[in-house]
Amino acid sequence: MLQDLPSDVASQHPQGQDNRMSRMHDDLIVEAAAVITVDPEWRVFAPGYIAVKNGRISGLGPTAALSADQTSGLVAKSAAQPAVSLNASPAAETAARRTTRRVQAPRAFIMPGLVNTHTHISMAAFRGACEDIPNRLTKVIFPLERDLVTRELTYWSALYCLVEMARSGTTTFADMYYFEDEVAKATDKSGLRAILGETVLGHAAPDAPEGYGGIDYARRFIAEWQGHPRITPCFAPHAPYTVDAQHLEQIAREAETLDVDVMMHVAEMDFEHEKFSKQGGSVLRYLDSIPGLLSPRLLAAHMLYLDEADIDLAARRGLRVAHCPASNAKSGRLICPASRLQAAGVSLGLATDGPLSGNGMDMQGVLNLFPKMQKVREGRWDIVTAREAVRAATLGGAEALKLSDEIGSLEIGKKADFILVDLDDFNIQPVYDWYSTIVYAMRPHNVASVFVDGRPVVKDRRMTGFDQNEVFERMLRISGECSSYIAQLS
Ligand SMILES: [Zn+2]
Repeated sequence: MLQDLPSDVASQHPQGQDNRMSRMHDDLIVEAAAVITVDPEWRVFAPGYIAVKNGRISGLGPTAALSADQTSGLVAKSAAQPAVSLNASPAAETAARRTTRRVQAPRAFIMPGLVNTHTHISMAAFRGACEDIPNRLTKVIFPLERDLVTRELTYWSALYCLVEMARSGTTTFADMYYFEDEVAKATDKSGLRAILGETVLGHAAPDAPEGYGGIDYARRFIAEWQGHPRITPCFAPHAPYTVDAQHLEQIAREAETLDVDVMMHVAEMDFEHEKFSKQGGSVLRYLDSIPGLLSPRLLAAHMLYLDEADIDLAARRGLRVAHCPASNAKSGRLICPASRLQAAGVSLGLATDGPLSGNGMDMQGVLNLFPKMQKVREGRWDIVTAREAVRAATLGGAEALKLSDEIGSLEIGKKADFILVDLDDFNIQPVYDWYSTIVYAMRPHNVASVFVDGRPVVKDRRMTGFDQNEVFERMLRISGECSSYIAQLS
């Protein structure tokens, strides 16, 4: 079992908007059976350690080098006083805590936090509703959202999903929905990092009774949250078939002025493909006719209906892609040409999609599917190795969210976003190859602790910033209130 962390770390969490500024906090050293860095040299230290100072990685390497690092001043404060012992008296522990906290986890490994590049976390209340019926988007999802989505549901569903995501090792995610300011509040409370987009629809939306009212809402949302240390707001036009060319051009222009990103579902639907193929040859070529839209600012989710010319276009325009293999498979659509996009130089991350379309919000589900489906798609066993899949779920996701200078791999100077994965379970042993273990054996329950900016947001499988049981009870109440409405849609 892992040695416990000091219990006061929960109180260091930012709670609400008054507490947004990052703050100085104590150093931390975590020793484990292995440290999987996903750095350019693919270094693995087994056994290894990671050291954190002011929320960033200040040292890492083989455990044998730890004392040398300390004496050389790499972890300067820890040299001045002994590390915290579990047996230390409260007074001694308080004194030591000002210097270095030390966690020893000999039966766990450390890897970068997982990055989920496309979600709708506030749809948690609807998970499992109206499965296996045709035209689900127009017959179920839009009516459900119009009639049931409120500020309260958005906030509590988001917080519920955040528990599921954090406890399964996700440290950063991208989300688009309505009342995205409520998603931002929940994210802030959780301690996770996110890119959050306010959805724009051409017809009435739950938070905007007039078509395109989402643009005004997004402007206010961006003004309120721009500059937050962990949350980056942006525009999220829903899709090419729900937002017209004129408004897509307007959004692209405003995103440029405000220096924010744009995220959108692209080339996901068969009817979308049919419609725009007639207009421009393909969805992507139609979008390329809209001034300013196809640019490195655009994070495109799905990208299923692409030909070779589209892949080349995506690379030339610098698009970033969120690949959602589980939700696409469930809806019986095509398999995204993900490995071809990567080969063309497109930044590509993995994603669960929302709880209604992808259901499971843990990244293990998509990490496991990604290489398998690419191998089936291409009819080749030798593409998307386990190592490449791990990269897609971490550094690749960070690249797709334009955060790879700060997160995605474990390197000195980067933000200390990492997870501790317990090796003490039947499903995960034996370990012969770390990458194979992570992709094909690791399951959400193996994740023991999760750190963002060096702060534990999950400690021994429990959220540190709030009472996760209260969130669970709240969701049961909300889903109970939704159940009769959902029954009459089914
Ligand atoms: Zn989506």
